[in-house]
Amino acid sequence: MSASLPSGLSDTDLAAIETVRRLAEKTLAPLAASVDENASFPSDQLRSLAEIGALGMNLPEQWGGPGLSALALSVCVEAIAAGCASTASALTAHFLATDAVLIGGDDRMRARILPKAATGDMLGAFALTEPRAGSNPADMRCTALKTTSGYHLSGVKHFISNGGLADFIIVFAVTDPAAGHKGISAFLVEKGTLGFTASQPEKTMGLRGGHVFELSFECDIAAENLVGPEGSGFRTAMKVLDNGRVEVASMCLGIAQVALDAALGWVKQRMIGGQPLAGYQGIQWMLADMATQLRAARLLTEDAAAKRAQGMRFSQEASMAKLFAAEAAGRIADVALQIHGGYGFVRDLPLERHMRDLRIMRIYEGSSEVQRTIIARHLINQ
Ligand SMILES: Cc1cc2nc3c(=O)[nH]c(=O)nc-3n(C[C@H](O)[C@H](O)[C@H](O)COP(=O)(O)OP(=O)(O)OC[C@H]3O[C@@H](n4cnc5c(N)ncnc54)[C@H](O)[C@@H]3O)c2cc1C
Repeated sequence: MSASLPSGLSDTDLAAIETVRRLAEKTLAPLAASVDENASFPSDQLRSLAEIGALGMNLPEQWGGPGLSALALSVCVEAIAAGCASTASALTAHFLATDAVLIGGDDRMRARILPKAATGDMLGAFALTEPRAGSNPADMRCTALKTTSGYHLSGVKHFISNGGLADFIIVFAVTDPAAGHKGISAFLVEKGTLGFTASQPEKTMGLRGGHVFELSFECDIAAENLVGPEGSGFRTAMKVLDNGRVEVASMCLGIAQVALDAALGWVKQRMIGGQPLAGYQGIQWMLADMATQLRAARLLTEDAAAKRAQGMRFSQEASMAKLFAAEAAGRIADVALQIHGGYGFVRDLPLERHMRDLRIMRIYEGSSEVQRTIIARHLINQ
């Protein structure tokens, strides 16, 4: 069951949401179990999404997007995650890359990359994390030293979604070691660049179709592939992650809604002691808590998306939405599995997959601990 829609959506938003929801139900959901089982990258699913314009949903019309509001984007990401979480994760990793070009790049770079990324002719990846720098990316070791024709990029990035498959990767590297996070710059690295290699995909607990790679760079990069001015990379990354955190929260809503719907269906048909499970107050209270947590997560996500749409600062709201939605969704999926008893534990039903897919939501794009740190920093510095 799809959740009711927030108010204030335009006709364009509503039409896009209907198209995305239909595709998610008819095309993505039936394939989600096999994507997980085979750990197969959802290329065909991304192609189907590209055909309806969903690969550019985060972009304005000028750069090939459909001109959706941030609220509509959030509802669409939720629907895609409800259909197939691995597909949603690969898609939102692509959004991180195109957001970085949109936010940090100049018009020449935007024109070169974004229209092709919007049609799915180019897949993107966003490479910030390193083996020794995850929660605190300012500790990164990757360097980009100036050469006569541009930069020499040297270093390793870790856990990069889409990394080994992408046509372009936004890579963050230190250009001025003395300047701390203000010495970090972003670079566009295109597929086929000499000196770039990718590992095999990591074997992950969940989101098994959303492949992550270790990437090594020993590459010469043209000066025109610097994204924005030197030293602006960290600021760009943080702005991109504000958007990304709302998208992670939206994914959590989609998966948690599916888990709650499954639990509601189950309690009505599962007979125990001569009555449906739904008749027991202990179960009713579980359902009430699940629905309340999901509603609270939804409102926080809508609040962050609304502030994003208004062009206001929304770092704190994005962190609150991501923190709460990721933790609530994990609890909701866990209780939904509990309500299914042993049937929830077997792989014939998707409950255990939802739990595995949700586990990373508390870790990537800033762990729950990092979100709490950001929220506290805003409170203290207000
Ligand atoms: C499936 C997957 C996809 C990913 N996709 C991408 C991607 O596309 N691009 C990208 O750049 N990265 C990506 N990542 C990396 C991800 O963002 C990092 O794993 C995450 O930021 C955590 O970093 P870490 O793994 O190095 O953990 P660490 O930073 O080593 O953290 C370990 C633990 O310490 C806690 N911790 C850290 N600092 C503090 C503190 N100050 N106070 C209290 N606790 C703290 C953390 O919360 C965590 O629990 C992905 C990771 C995975 C697993």
